[in-house]
Amino acid sequence: MILDGKFGKYGGAFVPELLIPALEELEKAFLKYKDDEEFNKELKYYLREFAGRPTPLYYAKNLSEKLGCKIYLKREDLLHTGAHKINNTLGQGLLAKYMGKTRLIAETGAGQHGIATAVIGSLLQIPTEVYMGSEDVERQKLNVFRMELSGAKVNPVENGSRTLKDAINDAFRDWASSSDTTHYLIGSTMGPHPYPMMVKHFQRVIGKETKTQILKNEGKLPDVVIACVGGGSNSMGIFSGFIEDKEVELIGAEGGGEGLNGKHGSTISAGTEGILHGSLSFVLQNDDGQISEAHSISAGLDYPGVGPEHAFLSSKGRAKYYPVTNEEAIRGFKLLSEYEGIIPALESSHAIGMAEKYAKENKGKTIIINLSGRGDKDVDILAKLMGVKL
Ligand SMILES: *Cc1c(COP(=O)(O)O)cnc(C)c1O
Repeated sequence: MILDGKFGKYGGAFVPELLIPALEELEKAFLKYKDDEEFNKELKYYLREFAGRPTPLYYAKNLSEKLGCKIYLKREDLLHTGAHKINNTLGQGLLAKYMGKTRLIAETGAGQHGIATAVIGSLLQIPTEVYMGSEDVERQKLNVFRMELSGAKVNPVENGSRTLKDAINDAFRDWASSSDTTHYLIGSTMGPHPYPMMVKHFQRVIGKETKTQILKNEGKLPDVVIACVGGGSNSMGIFSGFIEDKEVELIGAEGGGEGLNGKHGSTISAGTEGILHGSLSFVLQNDDGQISEAHSISAGLDYPGVGPEHAFLSSKGRAKYYPVTNEEAIRGFKLLSEYEGIIPALESSHAIGMAEKYAKENKGKTIIINLSGRGDKDVDILAKLMGVKL
């Protein structure tokens, strides 16, 4: 490969020999097209006309008064399909088209990335197959149907714990024998090089817009930027606009709540160094290196690894990562719904919960929260937790 894909010692491409040619071809194409005028013109067109960019940076007046800080929300929840994921699926889908690929595959946990990929497959008329653990297929029937409505085929995965990490393994297995026709569209800043670098590139648009918008509104940079961290793509996207600005604090909110089996899911705060899905980063694993299940009430934060660049930013102290409990996230969910009329995704609610804690100890600061997605998909979970029968 041309680059080593390392962030300090993290990252890299720890994959079977069989996958190297596919990764090399992808790296080469990405490095070529990321600066290609025609590619970028088409990507910008779809981001604007199809996905709905730019998204507003909304001053949350009521929440600001309530918490004693100036709070801005980057409204990724307003994008088509309801979250930031479409920035990446559009970028990679278009790249696949420019590479002449005639088939897309993707992995999905709860279904959000599967839907964002199925939609792009439909837009670009590229046949799409989505790997999904059979356990998740059972739990997320509505999302499976949504993918099928967009013309995608959902492949239930019966291996291992039959959840996200097993779906990723099966997608890699498919790709190892199909990469001449197929692009594997990974959904976050994880996996082997070039994925972490490439997904960050396609999510950078969040950080770029936010910086321009906050400078226009406030005439200065914010004190802190807070985003939730699953694999790490929405946070990497918004952080990338401010990494060079040392005076801006960067905070990642991890799913630190107890899952249904009582285990915690905060990878950087509670994990150890290890290799998962082709890159060195922090991983939730036991003493024998067996991958543990990540657990959070929000499906999008339920990944037992985290993007390698976050491990790097954490090791340098440039960004800080804190676990946010289920209770704190639910408070965040209710706060935004009640005070701003915006129902946030449970994932994003972790960032709001984090902001509430931060505001308590840092009155008067300017806080930007990346509102990664909308919460329509999560209202039934909230109702159940609140004991409301729908
Ligand atoms: C998938 C998802 C996340 C987590 O993924 P990242 O790659 O860490 O951004 C966060 N928020 C929402 C709304 C999601 O759908």
